[in-house]
Amino acid sequence: MNRFLAQHGGISRRQADRYILEGRAQVNGQCVKELGLRVNPERDEVFLDGVRVSAEKTRLYLLLNKPAGYLVTSADPQGRSTVFDLLDSIKSRVFSVGRLDYDTEGVLLLTNDGELAHRLTHPSHKIIKGYQAKVIGIVDDRKLKNLLKGIQLDDGISRATTAKLLYRKADHSEIYLELTTGKKRQVKRMLAAIGHPVISLRRMIFAGINTEGLSSGQWRHLSTNEVKRLRSAGR
Ligand code: URA
Repeated sequence: MNRFLAQHGGISRRQADRYILEGRAQVNGQCVKELGLRVNPERDEVFLDGVRVSAEKTRLYLLLNKPAGYLVTSADPQGRSTVFDLLDSIKSRVFSVGRLDYDTEGVLLLTNDGELAHRLTHPSHKIIKGYQAKVIGIVDDRKLKNLLKGIQLDDGISRATTAKLLYRKADHSEIYLELTTGKKRQVKRMLAAIGHPVISLRRMIFAGINTEGLSSGQWRHLSTNEVKRLRSAGR
């Protein structure tokens, strides 16, 4: 059971163990807390948090233009909206490729291809993620250079591979950053550390894919070419 969920549910084996013990998994309508239960993919219907997990070979690759005010999580104890609420016509379980904060907008990929998702989020593949951030204060050239040199955060040094000023106003600026790592709240922490807290944040690009043509909250299937490009980016 734990192996089946980890293989097909986009979660780690450890998470699968925890979710099963928490009573979040069901087989054929029954809650199951036995980690090693044998699952027959041909016959058994497995659900996690009420969503079907299947060993089906049909791969789904979706691009969502995430609005602010949506969590990237499968279930929120406080009942807030999640990005999965925006995918109501997708009946099989997909999971996000990395995460965006509740208040961050923009490119979010979702798939049921656990292997590709894992490769695209692994730091060794140096996948480029581009962010546009509106920040408090006027960002000068020295600060942009600091972002490129690297900022000491509590979990190590974070470095932008690109840092550009888009515009400055009297009390705020807008900048564009590219990163090849994906730590939690990384952009916000980097910008807060140089004295420019983020007002709003949008992911513009993930591995060359952008949200052009999609309004906020809309999603589409990726094209075959886009999936090919993602596969070669994750090599
Ligand atoms: N960096 C952040 O701080 N937040 C996000 O949502 C993504 C990157």
